[in-house]
Amino acid sequence: MTVKEKYEALLAEIEDICHSVSRDPKRINVIAVTKYVSEETTQKALEAGVGHIGENRAEGGLEKWEALGNQGTWHFIGSLQSKKVKKVIDKFDYFHSLDRLSLAEELDKRAKPGQIIRCFVQVNISNEESKSGLSKEEVLPFIEQLGEFPAIEVVGLMTMAPFYDDPELTRPIFRGLRELQEVVAAKQLTHAPCLELSMGMSNDYRVAIEEGATFIRLGTALVGKEF
Ligand SMILES: *Cc1c(COP(=O)(O)O)cnc(C)c1O
Repeated sequence: MTVKEKYEALLAEIEDICHSVSRDPKRINVIAVTKYVSEETTQKALEAGVGHIGENRAEGGLEKWEALGNQGTWHFIGSLQSKKVKKVIDKFDYFHSLDRLSLAEELDKRAKPGQIIRCFVQVNISNEESKSGLSKEEVLPFIEQLGEFPAIEVVGLMTMAPFYDDPELTRPIFRGLRELQEVVAAKQLTHAPCLELSMGMSNDYRVAIEEGATFIRLGTALVGKEF
């Protein structure tokens, strides 16, 4: 299947899933994660109508952005070293892995006057040692502290579920993230509307959509894996 065919099948599937849980399919944003594929394949995804591109590393991400950055919305989805912030800050539209105050401080410092940096706070709901992100308990105090950085806007929460052969096992994780998102949103903090949920990858996006995802991050299932 071409990327375009895969994307069309995916949109139909999203529509079905949303119908089954009474959600509006327009709320689901599909991010093509292009870290495993070439610039050419990334271009094909854009041509197919995928509006969002996700990269997890500054190097590969910037190379693609130089060539294709005039199209689509760009998401930095990997963990970000503070020293790389200045290279990526005016290229990417969303940062999915805000997990420490020092990173918020650097993003705020490097933002242009008036620039708003849209961030997801990364949460390690499953408390896996190998995963980065804040624990559930740390999230609200962390987000409250982010109020001191005027450029930072917390658009939502992000998580990576562990890989399970049975994606059904991810459900409590996605549900937990959604419950936490609702707690933060209810605080109505001006710097943290927190209405979005970045969750779901190739193996588990169906469950994530059922549980409220608004941004799904798809590599293998959408654009494939070339290297
Ligand atoms: C690589 C990656 C993805 C996509 O992974 P697939 O399983 O290939 O869909 C999603 N999110 C993050 C943060 C990633 O690093």
